[in-house]
Amino acid sequence: MIETQQAVKVDGKVVDCATEIKKVCAACGYDLTPEEIQADTCADCGAPLNLSQSITIHATSVPAFAITFGQ
Ligand SMILES: [Zn+2]
Repeated sequence: MIETQQAVKVDGKVVDCATEIKKVCAACGYDLTPEEIQADTCADCGAPLNLSQSITIHATSVPAFAITFGQ
């Protein structure tokens, strides 16, 4: 499964990038559902469940250029 955490904004500034955490079986790499993560064994290979997490960080912040053209 993939848990997604959105970027956090404080006072209009992004202080934390959005992240994706992918949880799979460490033994076989099976992509577990939230229900299957609750179990003691992997639903796919039957091994004692050991989670492997990979974290992807999305750089959502762009340089904050606010250009105002006076008329
Ligand atoms: Zn497995």
